[in-house]
Amino acid sequence: LLQVRGLKKHFGHLEVLRGIDIDIHKGEVVAVIGPSGSGKSTFIRCLNRLEEPTAGEVIFEGQQINTKKADIDKIRQKIGMVFQNFNLFSNMTIMQNITAAPINVKKIPKDQAEERALNLLDRVGLKDKAAEYPVRLSGGQRQRVAIARALAMDPDILLFDEPTSALDPEMVGEVLNVMKELAEDGMTMVVVTHEMGFAREVSDRVIFIDQGVIQEENEPKEFFAHPKNPRLKDFLNKVL
Ligand code: ATP
Ligand code: MG
Repeated sequence: LLQVRGLKKHFGHLEVLRGIDIDIHKGEVVAVIGPSGSGKSTFIRCLNRLEEPTAGEVIFEGQQINTKKADIDKIRQKIGMVFQNFNLFSNMTIMQNITAAPINVKKIPKDQAEERALNLLDRVGLKDKAAEYPVRLSGGQRQRVAIARALAMDPDILLFDEPTSALDPEMVGEVLNVMKELAEDGMTMVVVTHEMGFAREVSDRVIFIDQGVIQEENEPKEFFAHPKNPRLKDFLNKVL
């Protein structure tokens, strides 16, 4: 579904990504872990060109997306993104947040978009919040709305950048549960996370990014039970 070849990203003299290669298959859940500042956010932002790669190729559904002629707006419709800080539109109701892009970008009729939004809100357990504004929701509820909003575009892959890091601890579980259900339904997901439990239990593969490269990748059981890379061992000792 998504192929990354020799991906590099520099900010001036700072070489954040120094050659990332990975294939992400349909239906796969890939957890991305690594120290702060190692380039995890930069990596997933390059996957939908929120950051412009310095070198290398990102190929989505057979089409290279980091070229001038790629229609990035079209591609972004198929690559959903959920951020740490929800990024909901505060001046819009929950319903408007979810239906804005389907109506304006995909030209879906309003009543149809709203019906679908209600189904999605139901799926994330928030059907009764459609008329509320984001400010009246808890962090966990806001993040579940953000997930519903991403799903409303019917993406082929969802990218998550630390979706639970801004949440109070008691709200982390409700968001992870929604993500777990998505994974079980076959959604392709790339998840930057500090939640090692989620990486271990939900992901199909874990990758460890450090010093601008993938230092280690494996299926989760082996990854956590027998880490090989010394920097990964050190990292796991600190976080587990
Ligand atoms: P964290 O776990 O703290 O979120 P991260 O692994 O997501 O860290 P990135 O946000 O990708 O790390 O940042 C990697 C490096 O790139 C950092 O040194 C950061 O300061 C730098 N960086 C990120 N974005 C920019 C930018 N727009 N301009 C300049 N430097 C940047
Ligand atoms: Mg980050």
